[in-house]
Formats: sequence, C-alpha cells, structure tokens
Amino acid sequence: MNLHEYQAKKLFADYGIPVPEGKTAKTADEASQAARDLGGDGWVVKAQVHAGGRGKAGGVKLVKNQDALMMDTRAMLGSRLVTEQTDKLGLPIATVLVEELTDIDREFYLSLVVDRSQERITLMASAAGGMDIEQVAAETPEKILNLTVDPAAGLQPYQCRKIAFLFGLQGKQISKLTGILQQLLQLFIEKDASQIEINPLVATASGDLKALDGKINFDDNALFAHPDIVELRDQSQEDEIEAAAHQHGLSYVNLDGSIGCMVNGAGLAMATMDLVRLCGGQPANFLDVGGDATADRVTEAFRLILSEPRVKAVLVNIFGGIVRCDMIAEGIIEAFTRAGVDRPVIVRLEGTNAERGREMLRESNLEIIAVEDLEKAAKQAVEAAGETVRGTI
Ligand code: GDP
Ligand code: MN
Repeated sequence: MNLHEYQAKKLFADYGIPVPEGKTAKTADEASQAARDLGGDGWVVKAQVHAGGRGKAGGVKLVKNQDALMMDTRAMLGSRLVTEQTDKLGLPIATVLVEELTDIDREFYLSLVVDRSQERITLMASAAGGMDIEQVAAETPEKILNLTVDPAAGLQPYQCRKIAFLFGLQGKQISKLTGILQQLLQLFIEKDASQIEINPLVATASGDLKALDGKINFDDNALFAHPDIVELRDQSQEDEIEAAAHQHGLSYVNLDGSIGCMVNGAGLAMATMDLVRLCGGQPANFLDVGGDATADRVTEAFRLILSEPRVKAVLVNIFGGIVRCDMIAEGIIEAFTRAGVDRPVIVRLEGTNAERGREMLRESNLEIIAVEDLEKAAKQAVEAAGETVRGTI
C-alpha cells in the first residue's frame, strides 16, 4: 500500500523528521486560504497522486502570488496527471498540497528498502538527488551509496557520518542528518514499511535539512497490525481491477498482455505465465484464485479478467489438490452463465476427479476448450488470442 506525499510528510513530522509547513486543499478557495494561513509571499502547489515524476509533468508549481496559486490549483484539481511513472491515463488529482517555499541549496536522495537478497534493510543515499535520480542510477550508479543496516546493532553512527560526508555536510548538519536517518529507520520498522524514499532531502540556504518529498510503501501482509495506516488508503489511486480483486480476497496483478490467466496457487500462476510467454503469448494478468476455488470466487475471477478489454482469451489452469476438479468444473460452468463470458476460454484441469471435471465441461455445450496437456492449453490460448504460437519448449 502507498501513501500520498502529504500523508508521508505527516508521518515524518510525527517522527521528528523536518518537513516544510503545508496544508492540503480540495478546492481553489481552500488552497487560497491555506496560503493565507501559511503566510509568506510564495508557495509550492503539489498534485497529490501515487506517482513520482510530478515535477517534470507539471504537478509541482512554484507560485509567487494568490492569482497564480488559484490558477494552478484549478488546472490541477479534477484533472489527471500523467508522469513517467503512471500509465497513459494517469492518476486523478483530488487534493493538492500547498507548502511554504523552501530556499533550496542542495538536493539529496535518501531511501530505505528491504534488500531481500541480504535479508536486511538497506539505506541508499546520493548527493545527486532531485528529479534526475533515475538517470543517475542508470548512468552513474557509483554516485549512489548502499549501506546495509545490521538488525541487531541498528544503524551505526559511522554509517550516518559516511552519508553526511558524501553529502558534504558540516557541523550541526551532521548530527541533524544522523537524527533524521535514525528516525527514518524507526518509522520503517515500527510501521512495517517496505520502502521509504525522500527525494529530495534538501539542505536549505540557512543550513537546515528538510524532507521536501516523501514516498512510503507498506508491506500489505503487515497492514492488519496497522489500522491507522489502512485508514490512509486512497483507492482512487489504485488500479480499479486490482482494488476490486483485493476486496474479494483474490491476488490479482494487472499486466499488459492479451491472455487472461486464472490459476490456483501463486507458484502455478507464475509457471503458467512463463509458459504463456514461452509459447509466444503475453499474460494480461497474474491471478491466484486461492485454495478454495469455489463457484463464487471463480465467477468473480472471470468478471475481473473480462472487465479488461485487452483480454482476447482466457486460460484457466487449475490443479485439484485440496479442491476437486468436478467442483471446479461446476464453478466454471456457473461462472459462464453468471459472468457472461464472451471470449474463448481454454481450461486445463488436473488432479482429483480431473476426468469427471473435463467430461462435465464437454457436456455443458458451452464454448469451453478443455485440454489435458498444459503446454497444449497454453498454445491454444495463444492462438485464440490471435498471437503467433511459438514452437515446442
Ligand atoms: P516529484 O517530481 O514527484 O518527485 O516531486 P518533488 O516533490 O520531488 O518535487 C520536484 C522538484 O520540485 C524538487 O526536486 C524541487 O527541485 C522542486 N521543489 C519542490 N518544492 C520546492 C520548494 O519549496 N522550493 C523550490 N525552490 N523548489 C521546490
Ligand atoms: Mn521527488
């Protein structure tokens, strides 16, 4: 789960990490009031969407007076922001963050992520922060410092100094940075984050350090322990189909291919997607209908897959281990009538009562292609989707 920038900054502030003063607004009038409350003779207006790259896409505006503030706010609110990190449709802007202007001296990059290969939290830092960090990572990766945090010892003072020197900080700035890093780590651990990014962390003209941007991702599997975080969820920023799937307890990830995949078990789902690709097709999604693939779940899964117009064919690959294949077949047949399936469906059933399940599908007279062999099933799906089938594997 992701947060908006203003929500991330609120958490930063709660943990004592300095951020600029700011207020959110949902109308131009509210933005104007926010600016008056903040005072000063200039502000930053920032579109609140779950994506980076806003600065380059017109989602971050520096304004010098109320007229400009109202104009930029009006242009943003109600529109969709397309950035390098969104799809072509972009994300809806329902809120802007109005902030006091910060007098930036230098911009740094800071992030904390879980490095699964090391089973540790890793700190990444670069003195070349700001809007071109992707380019820095691609062209001059040596400018990004990686430090592993030892879970027993925590973040060490020498590690913090290393980052401070990399940033060219001096005097009090060094202890300020150390404080920020320690607090960030505490936030990361206490809230079960999977990633926190501050880009940019800035040194101001007066020597202060401030988080000017903030992104936090949380580990979805730990959200049950953090109702305060769950409350911050903004579903308008999430993929609609993924959100609907989530509500039905289905694991679904939208992809950009043409073959809808309905599979039980995450491992089998991955293997099925691999096979589809090896046979020349492109999966439209990852979907794990789970261990109890009941008629209701199968129906809902069909609905979700078919709500995506890109899907040209559906490949169902179910292994009846705990569930019986005849029950699955019943579910598929029921789903057909209830979900109104209008595209070719290829079904491969294997496991307990598989033969009976295939028979039922055949006898149903529905337009279902029941196939025994998984590779053949994948090839049929690729063909049905109008793609060129690739040779044997
Ligand atoms: P992103 O493009 O989505 O990552 O949005 P950011 O919040 O990082 O803003 C993009 C850029 O806007 C930053 O790198 C800064 O250069 C600039 N910016 C943001 N706030 C201020 C501010 O208060 N003063 C100045 N001068 N620049 C700002
Ligand atoms: Mn940023």
